[in-house]
Amino acid sequence: MNEHPVSISCVVPAYNEAANLPRLIAQLTEQLSALSTAWEIILVDDGSSDDTRAVLAGYQTHPGLVVLHFSRNFGKEAALSAGLDRARGDVCFLLDADLQHPVALMPRMFQAWQEGAQMVYLVRENRDDEPVWKRWGSLLLYRLINFGSPVQVPEDASDFRLLDRRVVRALQALPERNRFMKGLYAWVGFRTLALPYTPAARLHGKSHFSGRRLMNLALTGLTAFSNMPLRLWSIFGFLLAALAIGYGAYVTLAYFIDQRPVAGWTTIVAGLMLFSGIQLISVGILGEYLGRVYDEVKQRPRYIVDEQIDNSSVARRPDR
Ligand code: UDP
Ligand code: MG
Repeated sequence: MNEHPVSISCVVPAYNEAANLPRLIAQLTEQLSALSTAWEIILVDDGSSDDTRAVLAGYQTHPGLVVLHFSRNFGKEAALSAGLDRARGDVCFLLDADLQHPVALMPRMFQAWQEGAQMVYLVRENRDDEPVWKRWGSLLLYRLINFGSPVQVPEDASDFRLLDRRVVRALQALPERNRFMKGLYAWVGFRTLALPYTPAARLHGKSHFSGRRLMNLALTGLTAFSNMPLRLWSIFGFLLAALAIGYGAYVTLAYFIDQRPVAGWTTIVAGLMLFSGIQLISVGILGEYLGRVYDEVKQRPRYIVDEQIDNSSVARRPDR
């Protein structure tokens, strides 16, 4: 061990988690103190509309606590990015504020880092508690993302992670605004270790990821990590065109050789509707990508911090 103790940052995104915060802060303070003498908890208040601000005001002088209050709700991925931008530790933990990620597993993750892993993430042992549509949806999403992609995004990985300083730096260097963190972790690489865990039940409140939010995240992930949808439509287009040419030839030949009149209206209308439907879908898919490109080009910041509390004693080291 060198002269400095290993410093630890712990990033926690929190959106309307007022009821969970006291317990979370108490547990983290205890756990981090057991691991090192130099640590900071970076709580990112993602524009909460409950009494998060009031609750956190009670922790103004809590040693080691850093709070970033966003100016509005920017979403979990933005909150994670803000935490990582601010983190100064040699290692950085990421975990949810609802205590679904058992704090008791942190020493095991830390040990894995000491043994050489640069990134440690936890994988849910089973997903029996989730509705079928969620499980099948995520299976399909990850199949699509991973199909023909140079990096494989593990499917059951959670956002409960430990990152080495170098991984944090690599993530910070990625400029994109549409962030699908699970994909980015896989994209940056590094020596990575997966550990199994069983998520606890949410302490208070309910999940913020409803169908619509999940759908949004899924589209971000898919467009950011795969060009497959675009390519699939070109292949599909070619096949249909080939089919249409074949059918055209058949109808023409039947007319001239067999003297059969061309069958009428129904075929035309059905064909017209099929093809215009397909064209609209492909325009939609193109638009999905174009929208992301537009977001990137605008270069807006990923989040805006309104107010902050900073009681961290972890110093930024010039050599890291
Ligand atoms: N979260 C956030 N911003 C949001 C939604 C969620 O920072 O817009 C935080 C939330 O407070 C929690 C974590 O992200 O700490 C995971 O959210 P949640 O527990 O609702 O999701 P689930 O456990 O169902 O994946
Ligand atoms: Mg949760």
